[in-house]
Amino acid sequence: MSFNSLGLSDALLKAISKKGYTNPSPIQQKAIPPILEGKDVLASAQTGTGKTAGFTLPILQLLSQGKHLSHRPIRALILTPTRELAAQILANIKEYSEFLDLRSTVIFGGVNQNPQVSQLRQGVDILVATPGRLIDLQNQGLISLSKVEILVLDEADRMLDMGFLRDIERVMKVLPPKRQNLLFSATFSKDIKKLAMGILHKPVQVEATPENTTVDAIIQKIYPVAKEKKTELIIKLITEGNWKQILVFTRTKQGANKLTESMISSGIKAAAIHGNKGQGARTKALAGFKNGSLTALVATDIAARGLDIPLLPHVINFELPNIPEDYVHRIGRTGRAGASGEAISLFSPDETVFLRDIEKLVGLKLPKENIKGFEPDPNASTEPIKQGQGRQQRNSTPKKPKTDTPNRSVNNSFGPRRPSQNNDRRSNR
Ligand code: AMP
Repeated sequence: MSFNSLGLSDALLKAISKKGYTNPSPIQQKAIPPILEGKDVLASAQTGTGKTAGFTLPILQLLSQGKHLSHRPIRALILTPTRELAAQILANIKEYSEFLDLRSTVIFGGVNQNPQVSQLRQGVDILVATPGRLIDLQNQGLISLSKVEILVLDEADRMLDMGFLRDIERVMKVLPPKRQNLLFSATFSKDIKKLAMGILHKPVQVEATPENTTVDAIIQKIYPVAKEKKTELIIKLITEGNWKQILVFTRTKQGANKLTESMISSGIKAAAIHGNKGQGARTKALAGFKNGSLTALVATDIAARGLDIPLLPHVINFELPNIPEDYVHRIGRTGRAGASGEAISLFSPDETVFLRDIEKLVGLKLPKENIKGFEPDPNASTEPIKQGQGRQQRNSTPKKPKTDTPNRSVNNSFGPRRPSQNNDRRSNR
C-alpha cells in the first residue's frame, strides 16, 4: 500500500516524501482512513510504530479542508504525557504541515509560561500539550478550548501512570461535546478501557502490535558528519548536553582506545572495554559506569555482548557497525522505563553502505539531522571502508549474530527483517 492510496492531499504527500517515507506503516494504514472519515479511533500502538504520523497526517488534512477562521482558534488538541514527547510531536507536525497554512505550537510545564502564552495569543490551529500546563493556563483564563474539533490522547496509558487522570477529566469538561476523539495507548488496562469508554463514541479499533506488549521508546537519529570531525562532535554532544551516562560504540579496539583518550583529555570521564582488556579492567570499567564515576563507556560490539549494562538514556554509534544486526543490539541498550532513549549515530560518507544495510534490515529510513559546522563535504568519497584492511582478522568463524531483542529495540514495523548476512565483515573487535 502506498501513501497515495490513503487519500492524503498533495501537500501532505510532498511533505511525506520529503521525510523519505516510502510506505505507510501498519498503524498508519489502519488509522488514517477512519480518521479521515471523521470517526473516533481507539488505537493500540506504541512509539516506534509510526503512530505520530498515523494521527497527525489525517488531522492536518481535516483541518486544512475545514473552514479557516481568521483568529485561528485551537481546532485540534493533542494531549501527551511528557514534554519530550510533546516536543517531538510538534516537530513532526511542523514537518508534515510545511506546505499547508496551519499553525501549531506546544505547551508543557517546567518552563516559563510567557513565551507559550504569547504563541497562543497569535492563534494556533493545533496545540500539543501536557495535561498539567494545559489545566494551569486554562485556570488562568489564558487558553480557550471551546472550538476544539479533534482531541488526541497520545500514550494514554503513560498519562494515567503519571497521575494525569484528574487533569484529563478536567480538560474533557471544557471541550465542546461534539468532537472527534482519538486515543492511542501501548497497553490496555481496565483503567484505560474505562477512560476510552467515557470519551470515545463508537470507536473504530486499530492495532499495530499485540495488546499489552511493552516496547520502550527509542528515538533514532543519524548525524551526518565529516569523518575527521566525529571526535569533536561527540565531545560537544556529551558536554553541551550534559549527558551523564553514555554508551559509545566503535568498530575497532584501536578506535575505542583512541576515542577514550580524546574524551579523557577533554575532561570526560571515560573508559574503553574491548577484547584486549582483561576481565578485571572490564569489570572495573563497568562498575564505574554503573555507579556514575564514569560518564562514557566506549565499547566494541563483541565486548558489549553479554555485559550486564543497564538501559541507558543515550547510546551513540561513533561508527556505524559493519554488521547490520549489531545496530539492533547496540540501540537495544537504550530506553528507560517510562522514558524514551536516544540512539545517535555519527555517520560519515564512507559508511554509506553500512547505513544502507542497516536501513534495509530495520525496514526504516532513519532520520538524518545535520549539525551546523560538522556537515560532511558533499563531494567526499563514499568509497566504503575496506573490510579488515590494516586490522587483524578474527581467527574463528564468527557466530551468527543473535537477534534476541528486536521487539524492544527497533521500530520493526516498517518492513520485513532480513536474515543475517555479511558475517565476513567482523574484524578485530
Ligand atoms: P513514532 O512511532 O511516531 O514515534 O515514529 C517512529 C519513527 O518512524 C519516527 O522517526 C518517524 O519519523 C518514522 N516514521 C513514521 N512513519 C514512517 C513511515 N511511513 N516510513 C518510515 N519511517 C516512518
